[in-house]
Amino acid sequence: LFTKILLAYDGSEAASKALGRAIELAQASPDAVLDVVHAYDYPRFFIGEALAPIPATLNKDVYDIAVQTVEEAKKQVQHAGIHANVEMIQGGPAEVILEYAKQNGSDLIVVGSRGLGGIREFVLGSVSHNVVQHATIPVLVVK
Ligand code: ATP
Ligand code: MG
Ligand code: MG
Repeated sequence: LFTKILLAYDGSEAASKALGRAIELAQASPDAVLDVVHAYDYPRFFIGEALAPIPATLNKDVYDIAVQTVEEAKKQVQHAGIHANVEMIQGGPAEVILEYAKQNGSDLIVVGSRGLGGIREFVLGSVSHNVVQHATIPVLVVK
């Protein structure tokens, strides 16, 4: 049984479905902890070689959307009767997920096959692709 499950959440339908599966897995094991992680990042502007400061208003929008996304995830785990942590972490999604799994000793990563992005002809999005490619622990990709 998996006891330290990491679920990557971006607010998409696929991620919500993946979260449902992760909850079921956590419910199957009495000692399981489910960590739900949402990565958010500020857009970066290059002017020549230098990184330009991010406009404060845009900065706030990105943060507020991340807070909302995390609230949705919290609602979904709330009545599941499991030990769960829901966190938002700044950084690129694949890097954040892989690093979190290492730091926290996760034994399973659960991702949706696709997320909020658009190109449906591919089975995997770039985040799920990168996580599957670089993870050193089992990854469950939920379609
Ligand atoms: P792309 O982003 O490459 O345009 P996509 O949005 O369709 O494609 P992904 O972003 O790879 O697909 O999403 C697949 C899964 O990866 C999601 O269901 C979710 O589990 C995870 N994921 C994606 N973005 C994030 C994020 N910002 N934070 C946490 N998990 C994420
Ligand atoms: Mg995406
Ligand atoms: Mg993307």
